[in-house]
Amino acid sequence: MLNRRRFITLIPVAAIGILGATSAQAQEKLSETDPTGQALGYKEDATKVDVKKFAAYKAGNNCAGCALYSGKAGAVNGPCSAFGGKLVTAKGWCSAYAKKA
Ligand code: SF4
Repeated sequence: MLNRRRFITLIPVAAIGILGATSAQAQEKLSETDPTGQALGYKEDATKVDVKKFAAYKAGNNCAGCALYSGKAGAVNGPCSAFGGKLVTAKGWCSAYAKKA
């Protein structure tokens, strides 16, 4: 059984664990098999986009140039706000693409 002092010392440890789990979830990678990703035609490699189905795709467009992408310049991947902050590849693409201003 936990005494009061032991319980109080465990609270910060539990809080760090919860924050760590939240942070890990935010860094989850978006899979091409994700139902929303599939609906939006997400591909980790933009050159693999089904252009018959997603005619809006233009060669050269990719996540790194999308306003919804917040990865660092030169990073392999970064968070996408269209997918709740999941990581998308810089060279990927989906039909929610919006060119950065
Ligand atoms: S919304 Fe933009 S950054 Fe997100 S997956 Fe689509 S093209 Fe990439």
